[in-house]
Amino acid sequence: MSIQRIGIIGGGQLAQMLAHSVKHLGVQCTVLDPNRACCARSQCDQIVGDYDDIESLKQLARGSDVVTYEFENVSASAAVIEDIAEIHPSTKALAVAQDRHIERQMFRDLGIAIPEYEPIDGLESLESALQSVGTPAILKARRLGYDGKGQVLINDPEHGADALSTIGEVPAILDQFVAFERELSIVAARDKAGNIVFYPLAENVHRGGILRVSKAPAREVSEAVDIQAQDAARKILEKFDYVGVLAVEFFQIGKGNAARLVANEIAPRVHNTGHWTIEGAQTSQFENHMRAVMGMELGSTDPIGHSAMVNIIGNEPRPGALDAMPEAFVHMYGKAPRAGRKIGHVTLNASSADELDALLERFTRVVG
Ligand code: AMP
Repeated sequence: MSIQRIGIIGGGQLAQMLAHSVKHLGVQCTVLDPNRACCARSQCDQIVGDYDDIESLKQLARGSDVVTYEFENVSASAAVIEDIAEIHPSTKALAVAQDRHIERQMFRDLGIAIPEYEPIDGLESLESALQSVGTPAILKARRLGYDGKGQVLINDPEHGADALSTIGEVPAILDQFVAFERELSIVAARDKAGNIVFYPLAENVHRGGILRVSKAPAREVSEAVDIQAQDAARKILEKFDYVGVLAVEFFQIGKGNAARLVANEIAPRVHNTGHWTIEGAQTSQFENHMRAVMGMELGSTDPIGHSAMVNIIGNEPRPGALDAMPEAFVHMYGKAPRAGRKIGHVTLNASSADELDALLERFTRVVG
């Protein structure tokens, strides 16, 4: 293995877990982050600088054999890296994931089913879209939206102007509100030789636009749904000659044999719905991402039993609460508590689905 230095744009919890996943391979990581107290500092060297600062990006590239990133809102300036070091995943995938309209067009071009939606560039187009798409509908800013930010639910077609003002009058899409059965996601990885591996689907529960719980492998997944998810991920990975981990989030409509998926969005990076893989799969999504960008073969994605990942959001659990749950694998990111902020996660692992449900119920009772 010749690659020993990996640069990561962003020093949050994803970078922290990426760097940790390759410590045993002797790989040294450096993150670029403006915050001296960023989470990943415990695992990495750090260049303190803005994500779009050309000199800092060049410095990161010069000190790295390959560069990757931990979030999709990396600025277009990151392209300067390409002249100095390899960057994976492709910045083309990044550009698509940064814009919900372009992302939806990509799904459509690849024949991947999506919710009905319209691009919005002002009140006039919103009012006509509210007629064609119907209500309820969700107005979503095209750029810089995450964890439910930059989104507003519209129940009444008369409320378009208010909704547009809530998201700051920026270009947007209007999404049909999907009465989904459940939310599913797939995490997949592609290596430099083009080999693709898939983790089992995860079933995800969001509240207020923020992921609360992922369970994997998702239960009662029909063969058709499994194939639909894998095909969608494969098409996207191949379109971009992608190297690394990619996540695709879906809504499942209908049940049993009538179940089908519509794609909501992609994340060209390791993903919160894949955190369970640290303890719940033979190789974690973090290690597989790093293996891919380093040009190594991918590790097995086979699950180990049944897992549930619970995000710790806003506040730390009350002191001592987690001590009463020695079965819980606790990951705290070292971030200051703040409303709506993901400050850690816990993974529960069991040998059967029923045992996992019992563990999750006890966790909810003990930790709240
Ligand atoms: P997003 O930022 O698009 O991932 O949305 C965050 C969460 O909001 C999703 O995981 C869903 O729970 C919900 N959501 C987003 N779009 C829709 C939609 N078109 N219909 C119903 N729920 C949605």
